[in-house]
Amino acid sequence: MIKELIRQMTLEEKASLCSGLDMWNTTPVKRLGIGSIVVSDGPHGLRRQLKDADNFGIADSVPATCFPTASAMAASWDPELVAEIGAAIAEECLQEGVSVLLAPGVNIKRSPLCGRNFEYYSEDPYLTGEMAVAFINGVQSKGVGTSLKHYAVNNQEHLRMTIDAIVDKRALREIYLPAFEAAVKRAQPWTVMCAYNKLNGTYCSEHRELLTEILKEEWGHQGLVVTDWGACNDRVAGLIAGQELEMPGGGLDNDRAIVKAVKSGRLDEAVLDAAVERILQLVQKAVENLKPGYRYDAEAHHALARKAAAQCAVLLKNENNILPLDRSTKLAVIGKLAEKPRYQGSGSSLINPTRLENALDEMKRRGLKFAYAPGYSHITDAPDEALIVEACRLAKEAEVVVVFAGLTDTYESEGFDREHLKLPANQDLLIQRLARINPNLVVVLSGGAPMEMPWVNEAKGILNMYLAGQAGGAAAVDLLLGEINPSGKLAETFPLTNSDGLSAAYFPEGPLTVEYRESIFVGYRYFDTAKKEVLFPFGHGLSYTSFEYLDLKVSEERVEDPDGLKVTVTVKNTGPVPGAEVVQLYIQPPESKIFKAAKELKGFKKVFLEPGEEKSVEMTLNRRSFAYYNVNINDWHVENGEYTILIGASSRDIRLSKKITLELPGNNVEVPDYRDACPAYYQLDRQTDIPREQFAALYGRPLPPKTEAGKKAYHRNSTLGDISHTFIGRIMLKAGTSMATGKVKGEEEDSRIIATKNMMTKMAPQLPLRSIAFSSGGLLTLGMIDGLLMILNGRRLRGLGKILTSLPWKKKR
Ligand code: BGC
Repeated sequence: MIKELIRQMTLEEKASLCSGLDMWNTTPVKRLGIGSIVVSDGPHGLRRQLKDADNFGIADSVPATCFPTASAMAASWDPELVAEIGAAIAEECLQEGVSVLLAPGVNIKRSPLCGRNFEYYSEDPYLTGEMAVAFINGVQSKGVGTSLKHYAVNNQEHLRMTIDAIVDKRALREIYLPAFEAAVKRAQPWTVMCAYNKLNGTYCSEHRELLTEILKEEWGHQGLVVTDWGACNDRVAGLIAGQELEMPGGGLDNDRAIVKAVKSGRLDEAVLDAAVERILQLVQKAVENLKPGYRYDAEAHHALARKAAAQCAVLLKNENNILPLDRSTKLAVIGKLAEKPRYQGSGSSLINPTRLENALDEMKRRGLKFAYAPGYSHITDAPDEALIVEACRLAKEAEVVVVFAGLTDTYESEGFDREHLKLPANQDLLIQRLARINPNLVVVLSGGAPMEMPWVNEAKGILNMYLAGQAGGAAAVDLLLGEINPSGKLAETFPLTNSDGLSAAYFPEGPLTVEYRESIFVGYRYFDTAKKEVLFPFGHGLSYTSFEYLDLKVSEERVEDPDGLKVTVTVKNTGPVPGAEVVQLYIQPPESKIFKAAKELKGFKKVFLEPGEEKSVEMTLNRRSFAYYNVNINDWHVENGEYTILIGASSRDIRLSKKITLELPGNNVEVPDYRDACPAYYQLDRQTDIPREQFAALYGRPLPPKTEAGKKAYHRNSTLGDISHTFIGRIMLKAGTSMATGKVKGEEEDSRIIATKNMMTKMAPQLPLRSIAFSSGGLLTLGMIDGLLMILNGRRLRGLGKILTSLPWKKKR
């Protein structure tokens, strides 16, 4: 049927299908009855726009349930909950006629500074993969597709549209790809979204190894590859590499480029047909699954958002069991964020929530005894002495002080990275001043990523709510009162300070490349190998009860085939209240010629227990659990030797361990040995940097230059920032920025409005010229960009002529 349709299509019609009609719709071919389907963001709720369309969180979208963001979801360590959220978001898609949800984001948290970490799950590829599989299966179980993004190695926002990520093959396979791999193999996302950046010299949107050899051939992806919005570079090269759908769309440049390439023989029409076939399969599946008139239950989804927010929160500290609070305790509730909650991030994932709860109203509703003072402004960082004094006055009279603090809207966003891990200065100062007055201090944090806590020793209780979604305020009160027992665990390390991480010196880098010199040593893989002190380790999270771990058993002690190896352990609730524990399984490898992390997460289970109850937990391992990626054979390899199975409550709280010996028969693959060429990777407890030549040796090729040599001509990938050195460029950047910020409507005093304007101002100079054309919906043609480039490169008259002959006479619609 689809093949027959393709036979009936003209070359022009086929080309037109390979890009969107506009921001959120695919292109229809009415003559043949091929419909258009709708795609929309994003990971923690639906962002469906009906009028003005943009992919930056500027214009309005229909109300939707705002769930905790991905970094919070991962902290639940609960795939079932994540699947439930996915299914609920899919129901909202069904109501709004959306066929593909642009989620989940599975990029690894290479650095805690990445501005978009709130949208990603973890620093660990295994945990990220498990979350992604659950989310995708949840969404797709309802007949709505997903878009697994951003494929791949999109780990920083700074210069994300042009940066070249230089990653050694082993780190790519062991750290940056496994979550994509697990998701594709076990959940078959309808689409995979290729990232903006380059990987080892080639744009991901035209990276054949990534898009065809690995994704389609090795992992068996059946769906299609869609570009991130504006990520298309050379359309024809993209098609040849395995990228089917360019988004957004609206212009005709790339349709024409495809037609021309087929006619000239650069593009085999069979390649175009294969892309069209995948697109038509998606459209067909989407149309079959539409449910006109479908209505979701907004109340039930709000209740799920509340349950989720409570399951995702992480109790970081609880000295002298200051929590849970007794309802009769006289409280001072301090902090503007209690009143104006920070519950989601900025950018393309921005949700217009169906409702919004805050902790302050919830405390009033529950009749708690408290006095409230804001203590700081959430729209500036400057300390306000009058607000601090007022807060201290209340703190003096209270039995317990509960401070709501966290990263404010301008701190974390798509489009730029954080500069440090500190909280706003006015909040740190406030907390320190309050601690001097009343030692019974509890801090409730909001924020999508790690923060420094200079007051950590002064606060008795610290509850991290992450970005908890629209019901986070009520969930925080449920947790503070002990009506729900916290059970989240960190899915990322909280370092003492950013510079402690091995990647810190090589993040975000630019202007041309970012070198991933730390290789596989991301997050706890580094901190635990280097035995460095951290603020809170990966996997950490407390409970109002306690758990004992007993009776660790491994199904075999001498193992010839690790597939199906069973690990069982008994967990007992030894405390006074019901609670859930996340049992974590790490594997410690034997000494080897090849450098390895001290331990790696290879299994986990969340188990709920009544007081006194015990349960046996079983986790199954396989070859991959023990494997490293061997670049000599381009495959996974398991070394023989003695491995230790570690069972813990965090990566630094190992409760039980057992040694097993792997004796795989005929195991004689040569293990790469970098001890001479790259000694730094073997002595991380002594060395805190990776010299460039050692990284180059590991990378196996000369490293590309980090900056452009000499003065080069401007080109299609020059950014607005690059050309701002010229008169025209300056005007364009100014006009572009003010147009973008001008579209942001709302009250000047609204922190969200300030944040979105801030994001647009930071993003504008990073936009490459070709991407501006491809995202302009056809208003700005590539010919006009080429004309502009001629002018900028000194060929003024020809440039002007080119612009005039390239004006957009026609758009797709
Ligand atoms: C983001 C994607 C998003 C797309 C559409 C891009 O800017 O990187 O994650 O899905 O916009 O909004």
